Amino acid sequence: MDEILHSPQRELLRRRQRKGSTPAGGERAERLKERFSQFMDAASARSQVLRRQGARVYHRASSAIAGKPKMAPLPFLALSAVIGVAAIVGTMYLPAYVVTVDGTDVGVIRDRAVYERAAERVEDRASKILGYDYELGHTITYSSALVERNELTPAADIENYLFDQIGAIKKDYVLTVDGQFAGAVADRAVLDQLLDDLAAPYVNENTISVDYTKKVHITQEYIAADAEQDAASIMAALTANTNGQTTYEVQKGDTFMALAFDNGMTMAEMEALNPDVDINRLYIGQILNIKEEIPFLGVETVDALTYTEAIACPVREVEDSSMYQGESKVLDAGVPGEALVTADVTYVNGVERERNITSSTTVREATEKVVAVGTKERPTWYPTGNYIWPVYGNITSRFGYRYIFGSYSYHSGLDIAVPYGTSVKASDGGTVTFAGYKGSYGYLVIIDHGNGEKTYYGHNSKLLVSAGDKVYQGQTIAKAGSTGRSTGSHCHFEIRINGTSVNPSAYLN
Ligand SMILES: [Zn+2]
Repeated sequence: MDEILHSPQRELLRRRQRKGSTPAGGERAERLKERFSQFMDAASARSQVLRRQGARVYHRASSAIAGKPKMAPLPFLALSAVIGVAAIVGTMYLPAYVVTVDGTDVGVIRDRAVYERAAERVEDRASKILGYDYELGHTITYSSALVERNELTPAADIENYLFDQIGAIKKDYVLTVDGQFAGAVADRAVLDQLLDDLAAPYVNENTISVDYTKKVHITQEYIAADAEQDAASIMAALTANTNGQTTYEVQKGDTFMALAFDNGMTMAEMEALNPDVDINRLYIGQILNIKEEIPFLGVETVDALTYTEAIACPVREVEDSSMYQGESKVLDAGVPGEALVTADVTYVNGVERERNITSSTTVREATEKVVAVGTKERPTWYPTGNYIWPVYGNITSRFGYRYIFGSYSYHSGLDIAVPYGTSVKASDGGTVTFAGYKGSYGYLVIIDHGNGEKTYYGHNSKLLVSAGDKVYQGQTIAKAGSTGRSTGSHCHFEIRINGTSVNPSAYLN
């Protein structure tokens, strides 16, 4: 009877029913009923005798259909007769019923309870699937028959037949993702195609395996017919984004706000993900947490790749007493080597997650890189590479645009208020390139720290150095004052890199 569950065969069955044939071995049921009437005929001659044999036989026949509603006198009598005849002819037939559901014979059962229990189980199963109390509404008739024990219809077959008649329930192919219902369709090929389509964009000629990020199962199950979906809706659900989290390395030019915007987050969300980050001071290479759009069902592929990779040059250092300690110079850059690498690379939706190098063969060795390193003692005036405050005091004007003297203007440095005559210190070691009066700067000192970096100290009352002097970090180079365009005693301090003033606050601790 399993074949009833197969849709194509079920269709076939329906067509046969329309032509007046019967399912569930219907022809056989006809034969069994026929056999019953033949026995009735054969038994009629003996029925009087049997009757005379008394209530005992009656009673036995009654037991054979124990507990069932009273039979009409004629079949009851006939049945008694049949049992007698059966015993005489030596073949042990059982009294049974052909059960007919809405005019269709669906099986032969020993006892009506077999059908009733099957119907109850069907109602229970249907109620569970549909989520409400479901009751079968069939018209059932029972016709007496005689069968051998092995001709009885298994209860499960009747149950399946009844189940198949429930229009509100369909046997569909159900897709589950990590055990969660993800969609149902009548045609399994639709689901197979859908899963293929989901993976297709990530598969190429190097792909050696394709899998999904969650457990995907297709099972054939009974479901509420209205839970069935079309392929497009299932696809939309599978590719819908869920939010995960990943990290991002800050690149030059990034700002916190732009990163939040680019990743579909508000500033507040971005800050919540990065509680320890000062949003106004990002630095290149800093690692931030960002939200990641992850489809509900991801595709994990492994590609077997072959590629060449540069082999870095081994570095040999050569000491050079003509250069200061910490200085170096490349004498020979060397030529990087080349390796042929094979690797299994794992991607999730095309984004690399893991690279497992399976072999690496050197095609060409790298040549040596030779670097001269200085050994000469550094002089006291030699720049340290770090800046210190030239004076300590309140900052009265910051770097950038400001409103002063009745208009907006750009302020190229920091104004630090100090008492008249305060010692102004060199922010780092270097060579004085200017010491004199210069327009709005008043008495100004400029120190060159090499690498295109210079510092400016303006509005001094007195200069203590001259152009060409070497000064060490912290050396007093001038006394503070209010010369030039100034409204009070202060030090105007600038840092210029390749001629452009930068915010000193970013360089001072
Ligand atoms: Zn200033």
